[in-house]
Amino acid sequence: MSITVVGSIAYDTVKTPFGERERMLGGAAVHFALAASFFADVCVVGPVGDDFGEEQIAVMRSRGVNVDGIERVAGGKTFFWQGEYGWDLNSRETIDTQLGVFEGFEPKLTDTALASDVLFLANIQPDLQRQVRAQFPDARFVALDSMNLWIDIARDSLVAAIAEVDCVILNDAELRQLTGKPNLVSAAREIFSWDPPTPPPSGSPGRGPSVIVAKQGEYGAALVTRESFFALPAYPLETVIDPTGAGDTFAGGLVGYIAAHPGEPLGDELLRRAMAHATVLASYNVEEFGTERIERLEGREIGARINDLHEMTQFSGAPLALRG
Ligand code: AMP
Repeated sequence: MSITVVGSIAYDTVKTPFGERERMLGGAAVHFALAASFFADVCVVGPVGDDFGEEQIAVMRSRGVNVDGIERVAGGKTFFWQGEYGWDLNSRETIDTQLGVFEGFEPKLTDTALASDVLFLANIQPDLQRQVRAQFPDARFVALDSMNLWIDIARDSLVAAIAEVDCVILNDAELRQLTGKPNLVSAAREIFSWDPPTPPPSGSPGRGPSVIVAKQGEYGAALVTRESFFALPAYPLETVIDPTGAGDTFAGGLVGYIAAHPGEPLGDELLRRAMAHATVLASYNVEEFGTERIERLEGREIGARINDLHEMTQFSGAPLALRG
């Protein structure tokens, strides 16, 4: 019951209407790993430069994350991202992206990382995602995230990567952009209709995704399988400070919860509870900048919001003789 995540480990400079932070700990793999660490053992894999501090690594260690797969590239610079949000925290502008050590990155997987039964391919170049995926032929569950950049410049590779995973986690708008379909349900149907790949000689299974998750920011998230649909609102909050990493934290909650239930079939029951945990983790992430809130989060706080969310999303059948 362990997860390997491959993706960015970053310094983020972020400005929102409520404040700003310079070069704080960020990166998709970091946000994912911190969230998933509440549920299972996590190995984080990604490159950093000489400038990456021991304090940042200590943040991950303090949550029990295995950091042996963090590769320090001598003379290199850590991935840097700068973003700015306006009053609508659902949309942001990327001011700067400096790939640094991510340019020319070739994932090196430790034996511990390769032994994981669950894999999360965070947002990186889709051919790299495929390279990593091929090294986990027997993984029980593989999920992938991506972004508009790769849909724009590497769509064919991304489509091929999607065909090799069990679960796709994307923003609503990205799902529409990827499929050219105008709404979530038809976009998901389109992905399900793509041919699964023929198994390559490496033995990596060609099964195609069975779960599609659409992140909808402040409005929550929806889940589509071939047979069912489920949606949850975001946990209602009065104070949202910084949404950076919310998507990766959400993915950490979802994939972490699934990893923690190896004996249970990947059906609606498990997926819906996983969605609830993902929603709650993301709700804590946005309350402060970067990883600040998740670093202090305690398991009992997750439990409290799960109960609230359960309560908020219940309603009775209310039989009524309807007119007409
Ligand atoms: P999210 O808000 O969940 O979309 O994730 C934001 C995180 O993704 C930040 O911590 C960034 O460091 C990281 N990020 C932003 N752009 C990229 C990119 N092009 N590739 C990989 N990671 C990125």
